[in-house]
Amino acid sequence: MHELSVCLALMEQVRKIAREHKARAVERIVLRIGPLSGIEAPLLRNAFPIAASGTLADGAELQINHSDIVVRCTQCETESAVSPNKLICAACGDFRTRLVRGDEMILEQVELDIPSSGRETEGRSSEASPTASQVAG
Ligand SMILES: [Zn+2]
Repeated sequence: MHELSVCLALMEQVRKIAREHKARAVERIVLRIGPLSGIEAPLLRNAFPIAASGTLADGAELQINHSDIVVRCTQCETESAVSPNKLICAACGDFRTRLVRGDEMILEQVELDIPSSGRETEGRSSEASPTASQVAG
């Protein structure tokens, strides 16, 4: 199951963050998934409890945000939000575009239960993994 391996890689990152902050538990995990990431949010949701089982994130809430697909036109340099089956420039209609955003899976935020200071939120914008396919091998 593709999503399970993605989830396990994600848990590895979450565990590292939790350890850095000496957290007692992970309360919430916020992900952002692009439409071209190849990751199915419902499947990820199903895989999450399996991956989190027995870890600090056992019972944590998983929130999944969906990002837009954004391309940059190589002809007029305009960035436009497009649909997955229509990666063309919204300004001039050229199909020679480069993907700016839309194939990523990003760990946006982890909410931790930290004994000394109570709840703490760490915002993160680093990529959870370069690409989903790389995680799966
Ligand atoms: Zn254009």
